[in-house]
Amino acid sequence: MNRVGWIGLVGAALAVQAQAPNPNALANFVKLQAPVIALTHAVVIDGTGAAARRDQTIVIRDGNIAEIGAAAAVTPPDGATVVDLTGKSVIPGLVMMHEHLYYTTGPGVYGQLGLSFSRLYLAGGVTTMRTAGNVNGIMDINLARRIAAGEAPGPAIDATAPYVNGPSAFLQMHAIQSADEARQHVAYWAGQGATSLKAYMQVSRAALKAAIDEGHRRGMKITGHLCSVTFGEAADLGIDNLEHGFFPATDFVADKQPDACPGQARGQQTIAALDENGEPFRKLVKKLVDAHVALTSTLTVFETFTRGRPVPPGLDVLAPQLKESFMRAFERAQQNQQSVYTTLFTKGMRLERAFAAAGGTLVAGTDPTGSGGVVPGYSDQRQIELMVEAGFTPVEAIRIGTLNGATFMGRESRIGSIARGKQADLVVVSGDPSATIADIRRIDTVFKNGVGYDPGKLIASVHGQVGIW
Ligand SMILES: [Zn+2]
Repeated sequence: MNRVGWIGLVGAALAVQAQAPNPNALANFVKLQAPVIALTHAVVIDGTGAAARRDQTIVIRDGNIAEIGAAAAVTPPDGATVVDLTGKSVIPGLVMMHEHLYYTTGPGVYGQLGLSFSRLYLAGGVTTMRTAGNVNGIMDINLARRIAAGEAPGPAIDATAPYVNGPSAFLQMHAIQSADEARQHVAYWAGQGATSLKAYMQVSRAALKAAIDEGHRRGMKITGHLCSVTFGEAADLGIDNLEHGFFPATDFVADKQPDACPGQARGQQTIAALDENGEPFRKLVKKLVDAHVALTSTLTVFETFTRGRPVPPGLDVLAPQLKESFMRAFERAQQNQQSVYTTLFTKGMRLERAFAAAGGTLVAGTDPTGSGGVVPGYSDQRQIELMVEAGFTPVEAIRIGTLNGATFMGRESRIGSIARGKQADLVVVSGDPSATIADIRRIDTVFKNGVGYDPGKLIASVHGQVGIW
């Protein structure tokens, strides 16, 4: 084909596209948008951990919460669009700290699913998220920008730079060999627009220290899924956050060599055997609390490995091949009587409870990796349910998934709880999750910046496609 002909064809295709309705337009997913909205007669769970308040009215104006109070005392302003929420509850939009825009699509291969995932997160009530690990390079950053500009539906995204890791078996990770390389990596990705950092299992102490310092100099926080560096060492180096509760800690591996990962399984054996009331664990917790290191609970991903746990929610949105592949892994987990997770899963819950009880900052995330089965949005609701199973009250669990994350990000003056003057990031659910936490799954509307999105339309737009895009 000659050059002129090719350009002609592209031009014709663009002309057709311009006339056809755009299925990706933001407006397709909007359920309620008005200058002033009054949500009346709602149960309000405000995200601070306070008890639920009944029969409340929330007035939303220009994307913010203009008024909140007892329905008897707050009159909807003239001209407001009034939505009667009798029988429904309002919680803050979820602020989730271990999310990804990629997913396990093959053996050691992670597909870039940013477009479908950002819709599923929003449909699931997540209005702010950190990607906590990035194998997409620029995609996380571009999506964060596009969503912030109002060009695509999705949560506000704290886009994490590609992993800060040493040489590893992972095909989609950089192999950072020195402190200098770590500094260059952080500087480059900060320049590209990344807003946070994550270190990984093979990082050296020197590279981690350099990444921490370079990141902090640029106002970025850094978290880690560690193995080669212990939790205690990372706290001493100045890390801000550690991922996966205590599940990956190698602090208790007897013959641990500096800068070397003894294997995730070795660490997990020691954690499964750890006494949450014993001195070694209490000492580590005190170190983390004193150093203000937050801990991210990601019980959802570990649940998929644990025998006797229910089939995770949301599998139907996956492309059929991915759903089948996960169900095979799920069946294997059900038959594995020797698995460390049989004891580790509940032990991990107890350790996270003990950390919070000792004054530690616990935040929440889901980690859509493993063998699949952690489906964005659905798993964020599941994570809150699992925190209740771990022993937190429903309003405490909701606080961990909202205000705690916002506070960690330094955004608590704008998001994370329901209060006058804050951004109207609100999730309307049927029932009352302060009494029955499973009601958190019954999402009716997700407000972000005061715009109400339809979870059904967001999910329908990706149904059966998740895994392809
Ligand atoms: Zn992860």
